[in-house]
Amino acid sequence: MALKDLRSRKKRRAPTLTEISFSHRINGNDLAVIQRHIKNVPVKVGALATDLGLKVVLATLPMNISGLIQPEDGDGFVIKINRFESKERQRFTIAHEISHYLLHRDRINAGIIDSVLYRSKLSSRIEAEANRLAADIVMPRQAVSAEMANFAKDLGDDEISDLAEKFQVSKQAMAIRVG
Ligand SMILES: [Zn+2]
Repeated sequence: MALKDLRSRKKRRAPTLTEISFSHRINGNDLAVIQRHIKNVPVKVGALATDLGLKVVLATLPMNISGLIQPEDGDGFVIKINRFESKERQRFTIAHEISHYLLHRDRINAGIIDSVLYRSKLSSRIEAEANRLAADIVMPRQAVSAEMANFAKDLGDDEISDLAEKFQVSKQAMAIRVG
């Protein structure tokens, strides 16, 4: 997408017109990095984080914590992901923490710790924003639509499983996306 198009879209109010939620709140360079990464599925969320200047590490975290983002000594941020969760779940959590970085950087302060329900010290509205952008990252709208076009009108369990595998997300996440 040309930058010009992005700019003209920014002025519109309807976020549904853009592939990435809250894109008007994301700086142009970061947005371009995301646009580039979501062209290929499964989206390489670790590489996306790296390209955004973030560090990602697998960490031994308490069972009820999926991940966190916190400032690193010096500058920048590190995302820690619970090493005991499934790969699909870890991918979504990385995208969720990336979303906090993109949308809520000024609220990270000492860190945002996300429970398994993606609840934190932040409001549920803010957590919902992070989940929505995370879904746009791991299940890009255009790619999902293109895949759905290959199926019959009603998606059954098998189709949702296929899609989930293709995008490397949980079946539940994909069911919500296509529901
Ligand atoms: Zn969160």
